[in-house]
Parts: sequence; structure tokens; C-alpha cells
Amino acid sequence: LREKLQSLAALQKVDVEIAAFKKSAETYPKQIAELEKELGTVRSAVEAERSKLDDIERQRSSLEQTISEEKDKVKKWEARLTEQRSTREYSALAREIDIAKKSNVSMAEELVELGKTQGAQREVVKQKDVDFQARAKDLGAKMAELRAKLAEAEAGVKGLEEKRNDAAKNVEANLLRRYDAVRKKRMPAMVPLAPPNTCTGCRMNVPPQMYNTLKVSLGYDTCPSCMRIIYAPEAIEPASK
Ligand SMILES: [Zn+2]
Repeated sequence: LREKLQSLAALQKVDVEIAAFKKSAETYPKQIAELEKELGTVRSAVEAERSKLDDIERQRSSLEQTISEEKDKVKKWEARLTEQRSTREYSALAREIDIAKKSNVSMAEELVELGKTQGAQREVVKQKDVDFQARAKDLGAKMAELRAKLAEAEAGVKGLEEKRNDAAKNVEANLLRRYDAVRKKRMPAMVPLAPPNTCTGCRMNVPPQMYNTLKVSLGYDTCPSCMRIIYAPEAIEPASK
């Protein structure tokens, strides 16, 4: 009987190790996802500035297009000016030309300003990109580190699971079934009683005669409160007296 309980205690030790490993491993994917999110935020910031730059570029070429069309128009009007017969028509067209020229001058000034804005925005993009590259390198290194840790933990769990299978072979089938059924609900599934008659799993007292029986039989029973497998400490640890 003592051997039965000892082999189950050995199995439980492995299960506790596996649970601890899995718990630490399950934080890694979450941390990796957080870093990916952070990298995405930095990337979006660069893209936002780059898209502002694209807008300025579009505004600039559209303005250049307009200026060029307006200049052509002025040229055509100037050519037509000589064909005008009446003074009234002549001066009307001359006034139109004057207005168009003034508007062209102000558009040319606007184009210069737009060029300056574009230059400044180009610098912003450049700086943001430098920041992004640095962050990407830093975050990439952190992610690689976490992925390595995750792989290590997964390998560790795999190794422990093999160890568990070996340990489970030594446990009597009925006891193993009971243990596994309890284990799914609460860990540890197998606990010693604390004298005089307390279940160390749920801290409830079991009937005194249960403890007395276990002390003599060195076997196991079920805690009526939490259903854990209970035993007298003497069953595993040799009595200190
Ligand atoms: Zn209990």
C-alpha cells in the first residue's frame, strides 16, 4: 500500500511541475502579441506621416497642372487681344488677362509654400522611419527572445509528459483513474491529512475514525468535502517517532 501511494505521489510531483511549466509558458504568446501590437502602432504612425506626404505631393502636382493650364490660357488670350476690333472688347479681354495673371502669381506663391511644407514633411517621415527601424529592431529582438523561451517551455512540457507517462505506469489502474478524475477539478488531487483529522486540500475535518483507520492501514480514502484522495502522512513519510 505504501508503495502504491508513493508511486502516485511521484506522479503528482511531475504533474505539479507540468502545471507550473504550462503556466509560465502561457504568458509568452500574450507578451509576443503585445509586442506585435506595439510594433503595429509605431508602423501606423510612420504610415500616417507618409500618407500626409503623399497628399501634399498630390496637391502640388494638381496645382502645377492648374498653373500650366492657366498660363496657356493667358497666352491664347494675349494672341486674341490683337484681333479685337472694338476698344470695349479689347479692354474687357485685357482686364481678364490681368486677373488671370495675378491669380497665376498667387498660385505660384502657393506652390512655393507647398514645396516648403513638402520638404518639412519629408523630414518628419524620415525621422519617424528612423524611429520605427530602431523600435522594430528592439521589439524584434524581444519577440525572438520570447519565442525561444516559448519553444523551450514547450519542449520542457513534452519532456515532462514523457516522464509522466513513465510515472503513471507504476500507479495501480484504479487509483490512477480516481486520481486523474480529481486532478481535472483540483490540484493537488492527493493530499495528506494533518493531525488530528484535517484534509490539507480543503482544510475541512474528516471523521476522526477515518484518520485512525488510515493511520493503521496506511492506505487511502476520499475526503468527503473535496473528494481529494487523502492519506495519513505516515503512509508516505516514515513516522518520525
Ligand atoms: Zn478535502
